Amino acid sequence: MIRTRFAPSPTGFMHLGNLRTALYAYLIAKNNNGAFLLRIEDTDTSRLVEGSLQFIYKTLNQAGIIYDEGPEKEGDCGPYIQSQRRDIYQKYAKELIKKGRAYYCFCQKEEKGEKDDSEKEQLTNKQPFRCHCPDSPKKAQITEHSTQHSIEAPYVIRQLIPQGSTTFIDTVYGEITVNNDELENQVLIKADGMPTYNFANVVDDHLMKITHVVRGSEYLSSTPKYNLLYNSFGWEIPAYIHLPLILNENKEKLSKRRGDANFEDLIEEGFLPQAVINYIALLGWAPGSNQEIFTLQELAENFHLDGISKSPAVFDRAKLTWFNGEYIKTLTPEDFYEMALPYLQSNIKTPVNLQKVAGYTQSRVNFAKEVTDLVDFIDQLPNYSTELFVHKKMKTNLENSLASLNSILPILESIDDFTYDTLHTAVFAEIERQGVKNSLVLWPIRTAISGKPTSFCGAIELLELFGKEESLNRIKIGIQKLEE
Ligand code: GLU
Repeated sequence: MIRTRFAPSPTGFMHLGNLRTALYAYLIAKNNNGAFLLRIEDTDTSRLVEGSLQFIYKTLNQAGIIYDEGPEKEGDCGPYIQSQRRDIYQKYAKELIKKGRAYYCFCQKEEKGEKDDSEKEQLTNKQPFRCHCPDSPKKAQITEHSTQHSIEAPYVIRQLIPQGSTTFIDTVYGEITVNNDELENQVLIKADGMPTYNFANVVDDHLMKITHVVRGSEYLSSTPKYNLLYNSFGWEIPAYIHLPLILNENKEKLSKRRGDANFEDLIEEGFLPQAVINYIALLGWAPGSNQEIFTLQELAENFHLDGISKSPAVFDRAKLTWFNGEYIKTLTPEDFYEMALPYLQSNIKTPVNLQKVAGYTQSRVNFAKEVTDLVDFIDQLPNYSTELFVHKKMKTNLENSLASLNSILPILESIDDFTYDTLHTAVFAEIERQGVKNSLVLWPIRTAISGKPTSFCGAIELLELFGKEESLNRIKIGIQKLEE
């Protein structure tokens, strides 16, 4: 059974790259009837940022990325929060020491950020960390039951990197080989007894039976060290799917500090969660067809690993905006009305049917808030120029517009029932009587009532929306302007 996980560290904002990692891991699991896990990697206590955990839960929830196992959804492999699994890592670290694949190291005071001279030198020369501790007599002090506090010198446990080279295959980047000389004897257990991210991650991916590891490409270079750990334990190595970066429009790495929006910012701006998810699914994955609009369910059905690209994707706000508009169109009229209502109410005081206005504007906006600009002529007729009556395609000019308005005015005055059907019948009867193109009569009415070059609905709809009194009022103003 395919098992994937999203393994965030609650160390700050969850950017769109993290969300895409979660999404792909989720889609791979769902595409294979597998399980998707959430594991919180919080063993680096110095980097924890308050509130970021809640932010992770909220984002996944809003995005519809629902995990099968994870915090408060315990499966067989819990707990799913690493800080609650401390003893497990100790046990495995000691097992590695026994196997000769790890060692106690006394030469580094890493928590205080102090490094000893040999390490400093290695760092300046960009050499991976090596030390003499594997043969240190100090390790004799440590027995199986020692704790960090029961022995004098603080120590860490480090991975012992063997000679040779390590090769692995990444699903996206292909075969990668590194010389083990380039790999450092990384810390597995820190002086406070907590595992490093690098160690806990491997132990948990094994214990949680993860078959496919999906994560950012920044982890590619650490993967050989992880594989050496798997090999030391005799564990099966998972399939790796490293994802390229998402860049902003200036081709920089997305960063909240530089002002790049994260998921929550986008939702606050009025993007719909499904639109963002659909868009980021396609940021680095090609479905292999021309289809662009996918529900989460459809993404899960269509997702395949060979569609993942290894070149960085560029976040394109204009494209996301287009997606949002497409999603707005698919909302039910009731949902769009509810979304647009606050903007309609604060911009329209005239008693018009707001539900109708919402219906007319739905297909014309990319965001609910954009109705504001579309409805600005309702409360106040703009002081427009008569040039708006002149429209080549409509075959209208100043003279025939005036004639049309003059002919339609008495007809409208004679109607009391300003509903669509009645108005439509009356106006079209007049058009037929005159034997002219529809637009010759409709365009002048639309222009006189809206005072704008474009409006969210046509002449008959506007007549109905404004009602008799205001419609006649605006048509008379149009006639006056044309007579001047
Ligand atoms: N905790 C790591 C992070 O937040 C996860 C890396 C991984 O998925 O293996 O980036």
